[in-house]
Amino acid sequence: MREKEIGTALLAWYDSHARALPWRIGPAERRAGHRPDPYRVWLSEVMLQQTTVAAVRDYFHRFTSRWPDVAALAEADDGEVMAEWAGLGYYARARNLLKCARAVVADHDGRFPETSAALLTLPGIGPYTAAAIAAIACDEPETVVDGNVERVTARLFAVETPLPPAKPELTALARRLTPETRPGDHAQAMMDLGATICTPRNPACGICPLRSFCAGHASGIATDLPRKLAKKPKPTRFGIAYVGTREDGAALLERRPERGLLGGMLGWPGSDWAETAPAPAPPAAADWQEIAGEVRHTFTHFHLILTVRTARLPEGTNPERGHFVPRDAFRAADLPTVMRKVHDLASRAFLTD
Ligand code: SF4
Repeated sequence: MREKEIGTALLAWYDSHARALPWRIGPAERRAGHRPDPYRVWLSEVMLQQTTVAAVRDYFHRFTSRWPDVAALAEADDGEVMAEWAGLGYYARARNLLKCARAVVADHDGRFPETSAALLTLPGIGPYTAAAIAAIACDEPETVVDGNVERVTARLFAVETPLPPAKPELTALARRLTPETRPGDHAQAMMDLGATICTPRNPACGICPLRSFCAGHASGIATDLPRKLAKKPKPTRFGIAYVGTREDGAALLERRPERGLLGGMLGWPGSDWAETAPAPAPPAAADWQEIAGEVRHTFTHFHLILTVRTARLPEGTNPERGHFVPRDAFRAADLPTVMRKVHDLASRAFLTD
């Protein structure tokens, strides 16, 4: 394999085809002497974990408008950050975002460390994110391996070992491709190639700058790579969500415990989520009525089906769980997606009452 030639061809392609991304300093700007802002690189990398570029753009704009640097984010109110994150999912990321921003300010004078090893000591920064920040923001020769890079590498080297066992092999191969010069641009070029040319279903090999080096293409198996072990089917869990509205329009909401699924997020009080019919767990004594329909949502490890019960709660209700959020302070957009679905179902039911 001609690693150097591959790297050269990839960077030449990146120089004219790099995606314009709001957190990116493109090759032309780099040549003009602009440097990436580690804060923006870090924020984008955390947001992009498990999420697409299209989904992240608006969130990134809102976050950087409200909190333009790490010091501003470190001082932010936890509830406001969780509310801005609502809908992006994997909420532990938002909690760690705050912890990390505060650690950068408290322990590093408000500047992100520049090496992968030092970045790894920060809350919520794992090997992938540390390598990405070090390579992209600091031009450290770190190898950055996300799903796109795994796919490109598996095809380029015709690796037939299935994922996840293939991960160490793919990382080692990707490391062989990582150049000493422009490692940040190389990492972003690999990601861009995977996102725009070497796509999961229909790789555009005809216009790929790496086609002449690609063993997967040469042997006609590129589209089948990377191979993957069969996934276990996800179990289904069931639960009840309680949408209570006080006579003055205030909504009965509950902040979920810091640890666990949707940790720290606002939501409707509810039962446990179990694989058998859940026991009712109303948050206040009232005439709760089950409404027609159900909410379906899929988390990483299970499907969830929620039935929804609603009640009008009298003034003076003293709930056993949760607290009332006044009508004009309530924004459905502050809720995580599954809780927003509950809100939407309950709202439709009220409208058709
Ligand atoms: S030639 Fe095809 S399979 Fe190989 S890297 Fe390019 S797009 Fe991917």
